Amino acid sequence: MRLRGRRLDHVLGVHRASVGDTLCVGSAGGLIGTGRVSAIDRSVLEMDVMLDQPPPPKLPLTLILALPRPKVLKRVLRSIGALGVPRVILLNCFRVEKSYWSSPALHPGSLREQLILGLEQARDTVLPEIVLRPLFKPFVEDELPAVIKGTLPLVAHPIAASPCPREIVRAATLAVGPEGGFIAYEMDKLVSSGFLPVQIGDRILSVETAIPTLIARLF
Ligand code: SAH
Repeated sequence: MRLRGRRLDHVLGVHRASVGDTLCVGSAGGLIGTGRVSAIDRSVLEMDVMLDQPPPPKLPLTLILALPRPKVLKRVLRSIGALGVPRVILLNCFRVEKSYWSSPALHPGSLREQLILGLEQARDTVLPEIVLRPLFKPFVEDELPAVIKGTLPLVAHPIAASPCPREIVRAATLAVGPEGGFIAYEMDKLVSSGFLPVQIGDRILSVETAIPTLIARLF
């Protein structure tokens, strides 16, 4: 295998690998394993690669996320890739700015780029599925019942009465709101679809902090 560009720069700058060193490698959508450096200079790295192990397992989680602003989305996608969330539904909500839906951050190439950065971090190879749902009501009424089937449906809401459960040992669907929070109508729709509102303490966290905190409690 030959590496150039960003990945070569990472090996040179972070691993500081030289000939004979072994690096962790993986094949997109496939196995992970080791690569033994056989040649390296400023322009190219050559490795003898052996792929013999499965990537780490994914979490039993579907994340429903109010579409965040593009900068935050990018960071969240990296975390999602690294944490092992297999499926994300990016949903419109009242407090999501319309312009976010036309951001280049939602182009398939951009989604993939951020997810791969997260996957690389965690030695995973399997891209999460990202679904875009720009209409709240039809999604909740028509699709949500099938999404939550067989899972524990939770909606993270700072003023919820129940604390978020810990180590649930089962599949979950977790809804996380926009920066401005879910409005009462959206909470009512989610609750009447079977979601339990849960909180993780008195501090209102940003979406990018709330997601890893919630996931660490649940699994
Ligand atoms: N001003 C908004 C806060 C939004 S924070 C409000 O008062 O609702 C963005 C999202 O992160 C929230 O919709 C929620 O899903 C999640 N979140 C942030 N802090 C949280 C907490 N302490 N408990 C539960 N969810 C939280």
